[in-house]
Amino acid sequence: MRGRRVALPQAEQHVRLKPQKEHFPSCGEWMPVAYHAYRKILTMKGLIQLRLVVRRCPNPACRGYKQPCRPEEEGRWAYHMENVV
Ligand SMILES: [Zn+2]
Repeated sequence: MRGRRVALPQAEQHVRLKPQKEHFPSCGEWMPVAYHAYRKILTMKGLIQLRLVVRRCPNPACRGYKQPCRPEEEGRWAYHMENVV
């Protein structure tokens, strides 16, 4: 919409991302949330605060043990960030 000049809010937008899978594929173990990671991304629409839910497999016998499982979408956001002029 053009014609109406409305000041864009400068407040940060908050976006919460979480991994698609809650169970590790190979062992099927449910992965509890290990921690949250935060990233700030400057886009053309303003500053966006990403909150990333990171899960980890609790099964010591699993190859995914202690490997953080980050949201798949994070890569897309990073790509977005790199294209900001
Ligand atoms: Zn596992």
